[in-house]
Amino acid sequence: MIVESLLYERLFNQAVRCHICQHRCRIEEGKWGNCRTRINKGGKLYSTIYGEVSTWRRAPIEIKPVYHYLPGSYALSLGSLGCNFLCPGCQNWDISFARVEEFSKQTEYISPDESIRLAVKNECSGISWTYNEPTLWFEYTLHGAILAKGKGLYTNYVTNGFITPEALDKIGPYLDVFRVDIKGFDKKTYSRIAHITNWRRILEVIQRAGRKWHMHVELVTNIIPLINDDPAHLKALAQWIKNELSSDTPWHITRFYPNWRMSDIPPTPLKTLETICEIALAEGLKYVYIGNVPDHQRNNTYCPKCGKTLIERKNWDRVKCLIKGGTCPECMEKIAGKFTS
Ligand code: SF4
Repeated sequence: MIVESLLYERLFNQAVRCHICQHRCRIEEGKWGNCRTRINKGGKLYSTIYGEVSTWRRAPIEIKPVYHYLPGSYALSLGSLGCNFLCPGCQNWDISFARVEEFSKQTEYISPDESIRLAVKNECSGISWTYNEPTLWFEYTLHGAILAKGKGLYTNYVTNGFITPEALDKIGPYLDVFRVDIKGFDKKTYSRIAHITNWRRILEVIQRAGRKWHMHVELVTNIIPLINDDPAHLKALAQWIKNELSSDTPWHITRFYPNWRMSDIPPTPLKTLETICEIALAEGLKYVYIGNVPDHQRNNTYCPKCGKTLIERKNWDRVKCLIKGGTCPECMEKIAGKFTS
């Protein structure tokens, strides 16, 4: 469904500037933005993917991965088409790189109301916009988030963090969880992976989500051999997380698997992931996880004070949580996040 974009300005000669993501595309009449989901028609900007759902399923929150927000709960996970980054190793390239002409063949329309009904019917505690970049169907996620909050569901953005501050401020009151991919910690890495140079603005948006809107923030970095596995950069990223967010912020270091235009790069060696994990812990981060390695002990949550296993995870869906009243039952250390008991 096509709807008028919520955040754009009109320029001279029927051109517009989109303010949904930080590309801030200038779009001439009749042309598309970088993401190929927004078009300028007659001097007005339109989103073409409102409610156009390519994928939906009931999924454990752990699979996003989000480990410190109602662990063991399920969320209705929804995705559309398109992306504003086009990373060469994208795991969801079939929907992220979809061609506009194919949109109507690859999606079904699910209204925001219907998405909430689906979540409730499938016994979900929340709703996640995921699979492709949620910012691209901003209007739809905003409407869905408002309805979700009215029904007592939590809301989760699985995002690259390239949303503009003004778009974040519109959805901020209705978003509980901001799960952000940080691709690296330097311009060269972001240029290679995501084709952007103004990567530091992503960090500012993450801070804004936490400080201004009190969202629960979790971070993921997919470690790609020889692309973003420099220990010095990752140490600097760990320091940034600790100093600018909090030592309580969970950081997931995930294994890369060869895919699409990065099919020639081997999977990340386990040793690399474990070394980065040790670096992050040594820098003072309390909750560091190793992802995409089934049943690795760093899938579990440990008390940062006494070391007790607090949340045991097996296969995403078998989650045993021992946290009581938000604290470790052994030493009463407060554990960051939101828990049912
Ligand atoms: S959402 Fe699309 S059109 Fe808008 S600024 Fe981002 S890439 Fe450009």
